[in-house]
Amino acid sequence: MPRLEININKIKHNAVVLKELFAQKGIIVTAVIKGVAGSPKIAHAILTCGISTIAVSLIQNIKKMKESGVKAEFLLTRLPAHSEAAEVVQYADISLNSEISTIKRLSEHSLKLGKKHKVIVMVELGDLREGILPRDIDSIIEQILLLKGVALHGIGANLACFGGVKPSDDKMNELSQIADHLEEKYKIKLPVISGGNSANYAWFLSTKDIGNINNLRIGEAILLGRETLQRNKIPKLYTDAFTLICEVIESKIKPSVPYGEIYQNAIGDTPEFSDVGSINRVIIGIGEQDVDTKAVIPRIDAEIIGASSDHLILHSKNPIEVGSEIEFDINYSALLRLSISPYVKKVFV
Ligand SMILES: *Cc1c(COP(=O)(O)O)cnc(C)c1O
Repeated sequence: MPRLEININKIKHNAVVLKELFAQKGIIVTAVIKGVAGSPKIAHAILTCGISTIAVSLIQNIKKMKESGVKAEFLLTRLPAHSEAAEVVQYADISLNSEISTIKRLSEHSLKLGKKHKVIVMVELGDLREGILPRDIDSIIEQILLLKGVALHGIGANLACFGGVKPSDDKMNELSQIADHLEEKYKIKLPVISGGNSANYAWFLSTKDIGNINNLRIGEAILLGRETLQRNKIPKLYTDAFTLICEVIESKIKPSVPYGEIYQNAIGDTPEFSDVGSINRVIIGIGEQDVDTKAVIPRIDAEIIGASSDHLILHSKNPIEVGSEIEFDINYSALLRLSISPYVKKVFV
């Protein structure tokens, strides 16, 4: 079985370094662990680093962590659906929202439980995933302030997720000014102004004034040690907390170009190859079903030449024996799939 080795100490190291870095300018980190499907072990490790809010995108993962005894403030990163409002207030302490109809449902269900669910209103700043347009913000805030079952916990923005839009000084200033405007107009205090995610790293380093931003929701930088605008390594962080290890199931010298009449392959592509003569072709037992095969990088001198649903084929510079193991670094999209595959063993080291 392929296995994913998870070095908990490296993840903890990354969490501590980032927590301390952002704290230098007064920013509190929320740890986003949706990339590891809310692994209770990883949640627990991060909590020991002095981070107290854990975020995931699925209610099922909050449930799983709670059942495993993880004690934290839980934030749901994906907008709640109407149909899950009851569960959201039951399990999550905070949710990110942009629809008043959903927030009203959260309030109703929260009242039934005698709770006050915390709501962060997401503001659209141009990346065009979730968020309310700035011109509509007053009206939603006015309606939220009338609801008894929810507390307006703050506002937030999410950039570089869908449109790849950089969280610049301009964008962060806009969010800060909206916060000022709301606090003044409605005589309220917004506890959280959440500026974004791992893509905010460059902004954080370069900005002379963080304004009102006091929170960032950080996932990939903690887990994989990279900022996400250009996927550069963040100094002092580990990028290899995760290692994918797979066994070689075939290793032969064969041509570099398929021969015969060429039609579509397993995933519907009509592949083309350049002829570099005979090569060491190595097959390992993992494929598209369990991992994004374009997001794994062998730690040996080899190049991935293709994959089907359950095989991955490498061109190795050196011969490799059948039965030996190959280690890979992984990117975020590989981590997402590996984390939820029951066919990949998770080993904590
Ligand atoms: C996934 C997510 C994050 C974390 O993003 P990273 O790039 O992993 O830091 C933050 N906020 C929201 C709303 C998200 O969906």
